This record gives sequence, C-alpha cells and structure tokens, in this order.
Amino acid sequence: MKIAIDGPAAAGKTTLARSLARELGYLFVPTGAMYRAAALAKKRGLPPEQARIEVREGGRILLEGEDVTDLLASPDLDELSSQVAVDSAVRRHLVALQRQIAAGRQVVMEGRDIGTVVLPDAELKLFLWAEPEERARRRVAERGGDFQEHLAAIRRRDERDSTREDSPLRPAPDAVILDTTALSPEEVLAQAVRLVEERRAQLAG
Ligand code: C5P
Repeated sequence: MKIAIDGPAAAGKTTLARSLARELGYLFVPTGAMYRAAALAKKRGLPPEQARIEVREGGRILLEGEDVTDLLASPDLDELSSQVAVDSAVRRHLVALQRQIAAGRQVVMEGRDIGTVVLPDAELKLFLWAEPEERARRRVAERGGDFQEHLAAIRRRDERDSTREDSPLRPAPDAVILDTTALSPEEVLAQAVRLVEERRAQLAG
C-alpha cells in the first residue's frame, strides 16, 4: 500500500510519516527534505532542476552524493525551499524522482502534493492540519527562537504554497483530514494506524 501525507508547514507530517513507516515497515520518503536539498543546491550555485538528490534508509538525503540531512532544517532553507518549489522545472524533476522511488514499493510519502499529483492512486491519503499558532509553538519547542517570527514565517510559506499555480497545497478529494491541533504525536500516530487498518480491511474486501 502507498500512503500519502500532505499538509501545511510544521503540521507534524515528517514526525507522523517517519513513525508510521517504522510501525508498518514501509519506506519513509520526506519530499519536503528533497525540496530543501534542491534549495541547498541553488544556494551552492547548482541548477536545482538538475540536482542529483537521493533518499536513503530512514529518510536521509544525499545531494550530489553528500549526506546533507543535518543541514536541511534551517530558517533560510524553510524560505528558499518554498521559493524553488514554485518553479515547474524543479517540480517536474522531483516528482519524477518521487514516483521512481515509490514504484513497486510500500511507502509513506509526505509533502504538499503527494495525494493530488505525485501518487494520486495512493490507497490512503491523510491531510494533516493544525492551527498556525499551534504550529508556531511546535517550532519554538523544536528549534527555539521567537514565537512571532515562526508564526510569520509559517503564514508566509502557507500562503505561497497554497496560491502557487503548479500543484498548490490542498487536500485531495479523497483525503482524510486530521486536525492535530490538540493531539500529541502519539495520538496522531494511533489515529493513522487505525485508518491504515480500516483501509486494509476495505481493500481485503
Ligand atoms: O515540508 P517542508 O517544510 O520540509 O517543505 C519545504 C518546502 O518545500 C515547502 O514549504 C513547500 O514549498 C515545498 N514542498 C512542496 N511539495 C512537496 C514538499 C515540499 O512544494 N511535496
């Protein structure tokens, strides 16, 4: 089965996708990190639409053969990744890679356009939502820094991701929307596991 997890910035997609993949023994594919690696390529003067990006076990990301995973969660790449993600040439390049990775495999793939564009046939689609203020609080807990600055950055990124012409952020018509505002990561995982079980039962007929 293929599982798509979409949603806005800092909604907990990566945390859920990683733990769900571990629970199920599926491959975890963080496509946000792939856009961040493309942004890093651009920062380094390489064309992002040709960047050689690989996803390894546990969601580690290689750029031109170098493991750059630990460089990707920075405020400048938060911003730059959402800027390069507007570019259709970059999207074509990464979507092709993402489909190749998922072909013939059981995956949990997280991003913005997984259920709508990358894997429209995914057997289970989740759309993770949380109030922007709660997402900003989670960022402060994760990375430190100023609440208002995180909130402004999240709103700016949500706006850009939702209004771009190519593959805007929005739930697929068949996505299950999970509001995680008042939920712990463990509660979100438990709900997702229950939805996987329900879907498996449905598929088994
Ligand atoms: O999810 P994350 O914050 O790591 O994603 C970084 C940026 O990459 C997002 O703000 C979004 O612009 C872009 N992105 C995208 N499509 C995806 C995943 C991420 O456009 N499937």
